[in-house]
Amino acid sequence: MNRGEAIFQRFRIEGSVMDELCADCRKQKFWTPCTWCKKPLCEACSRFELLAEGCGTVVPAYFCATCVVDPFCNPNAIFWQMKETDA
Ligand SMILES: [Zn+2]
Ligand SMILES: [Zn+2]
Repeated sequence: MNRGEAIFQRFRIEGSVMDELCADCRKQKFWTPCTWCKKPLCEACSRFELLAEGCGTVVPAYFCATCVVDPFCNPNAIFWQMKETDA
């Protein structure tokens, strides 16, 4: 490993430590990134969604609280808007 690679590796390790907390609650550990804005989320803050893609295919997606109710990010946002207002 040359010097440049060593520095890069250190940077990556420090970067991952910084990203370990959920960006929404800042308490729980990073679990998955938001599918849309890529911010780190913990298991409690991530909203699981199945998105229809093509004919009959669904892809699993995880959204943050902001993106899940935004129709631009999530095609099913309207259901979440009803659900989140209910709670
Ligand atoms: Zn969280
Ligand atoms: Zn998001």
